[in-house]
Amino acid sequence: MSENDGGKAGMIFNIQHFSIHDGPGIRTTVFMKGCPLDCIWCHNPESKSFRPQLSFTKSKCVGCGACLKACPHGCHNIEPDGGGFRHVIDRTGCSLCGSCCAACSYSALEITGRLCDPESVIEDVLRDRIFYETSGGGVTFSGGEPTAQPEFLKEMLVLAKQSGLHTAVETCGYVRTDILLDLAGYVDLFLFDYKETDPGLHKKYTGRDNALIIENLSALNEAGAEIILRCPLIPGLNTDDANMKGISDTAERLSSVKEIQLEPYHPLGISKAGAIGIAPAYENAEFMDKTLAEECRDKISKLTVKPVRIM
Ligand code: SF4
Ligand code: SF4
Repeated sequence: MSENDGGKAGMIFNIQHFSIHDGPGIRTTVFMKGCPLDCIWCHNPESKSFRPQLSFTKSKCVGCGACLKACPHGCHNIEPDGGGFRHVIDRTGCSLCGSCCAACSYSALEITGRLCDPESVIEDVLRDRIFYETSGGGVTFSGGEPTAQPEFLKEMLVLAKQSGLHTAVETCGYVRTDILLDLAGYVDLFLFDYKETDPGLHKKYTGRDNALIIENLSALNEAGAEIILRCPLIPGLNTDDANMKGISDTAERLSSVKEIQLEPYHPLGISKAGAIGIAPAYENAEFMDKTLAEECRDKISKLTVKPVRIM
């Protein structure tokens, strides 16, 4: 399906129950597939494409060969490699039929991404209603970029509100303003990504400049939306003083911004990228140093009265 097919079904790649970092209380986070940005450090690279993808976890593969027999297109091959083996996948021939995944007894293969209707997603979310009620939680739509599937997202938001749930949307902000404002009527909290202040660097790191994103932040502010700024901290890329000032200035300028949340870089996206057969552009295998994250927090805190938290 395309990102805006006009239908109300949509593509998700995970529903995560008992999330505690995606808004207040205990939440269920629905991860939607597809994003208009292409961040070089993306920690969910399987979320970038709007289409399903074959995922292969090398560490789970024992080389049994069942997938070789199952694949109708001969996409899998096992080659000797020193004393071990190498599992090679020709993804160009893959039709995403899923036969190899069904044949693998070790869960090394799976199709990431499935088409769902809004009702079935919210039915799943409502299983944990008791936990939302006792913790002040709810449902969060993340991704990928949820607003890139606006019809699907809106329908899920409407159903969630009809069921009395608190709703949050994590967004990169790169969406038509009229679409965002229409969705905002059903959103209690925006977790709004702020990645880089300098437009040229923003384009270099994400593939797009940040003009529309900043415009959308202002539009949500004027509409009275509740916003938490979510700022990924990527060592050597956006941890400089100019960006720290940009974050604090933005929070100060917009009364709707209630808090700044800093997300220190972690390298978990590297293995996820390998599983879907792509090489990450930012290949830093180290978790971000805690002291550097604290320095960033302190620099921002000196320039704004808004609370700043490291996640
Ligand atoms: S079926 Fe699974 S464990 Fe066996 S070779 Fe294929 S991926 Fe590896
Ligand atoms: S999903 Fe189907 S076509 Fe693709 S590698 Fe597996 S068996 Fe082959």
